[in-house]
Amino acid sequence: MANEQKGRSTTCILSLPTEVLSEVLARVASCSSTDLFRAKLCCKLFYEVSEADNIYHRVSMDKFEIVPWSKNDQVSRFLKKCRESKNPEALYRKGVVDYFTDKHEDSALECLEEAAISGHADAAYALGIIYIFLGGDELKRKGMRLLSGLKKSRILYAKQFHPRHNLRALLRMIWVKNPLFLKPTPICCAMTHERKTSSWPMDADDVEEESTCEACACDEEIGAICAALPYR
Ligand SMILES: [Zn+2]
Repeated sequence: MANEQKGRSTTCILSLPTEVLSEVLARVASCSSTDLFRAKLCCKLFYEVSEADNIYHRVSMDKFEIVPWSKNDQVSRFLKKCRESKNPEALYRKGVVDYFTDKHEDSALECLEEAAISGHADAAYALGIIYIFLGGDELKRKGMRLLSGLKKSRILYAKQFHPRHNLRALLRMIWVKNPLFLKPTPICCAMTHERKTSSWPMDADDVEEESTCEACACDEEIGAICAALPYR
C-alpha cells in the first residue's frame, strides 16, 4: 500500500508531459514572477522547463520597477531575456523609456512595434502618439489609425485597461528628453468645425462624451499626453 502510494505520487510528476508542465509554469509566471522563481527552486525539472522562451514571453512584469532606483545586473539580464523572448510588456516598457528619454530611438520603436503587433494595446497607443509627433502625412495617418483602432475597440475607455493612463503614469517617472516632444504640439484635425475645448480627459469617467471627429479625438489624446510632460 505504502509502495503503491509512493509509486503513484512519483509517477504523477514524472508522467506529466513537458508541454503540460510548461503550460502550467507559464500560467504561474503570467500571474506572478515571484511564484515562478519559487517554482524554479523546487526541482531541476521545474528549473529547466522554466528556462524556455515561452515562460520568459509570458512572465508578469508587475513586480519589476519600470524605472529601477539602482542597477541590478541579475534583474537586467532577466528583463533582457524577457525582451528577447518577445514579452510584450517588457518590450513596451523598454520602448517607451528609451524613446522618450532619447536613447536608442530606432530599437525603441522596434520594441514598441513588436509589442503592438502581438496585441499589446499600451504599445499600440504609445506608437500612435509617437507617429503623430514624428509627423509627415504618412506617419501621422498611421498614428491616427492606431489611436482610432483602440477607440473603436473601446480599449481607450475600459477602466481596468487604460493605455492613456498607463503612458501618462510612465512618463511622469522618467525624464522626457527626446527633442521631438519639445516641438509645438502636433494637430490632427485641420477642419474648422467646432472643436471640443473642455479640459483633456483624465480618466475613463471623463470620456463618456466622445468626439465624433476621429482627428479631434486624436488631438485630445495628444493633449492628454502633453499634459503629462513636465515642461508643458
Ligand atoms: Zn475634428
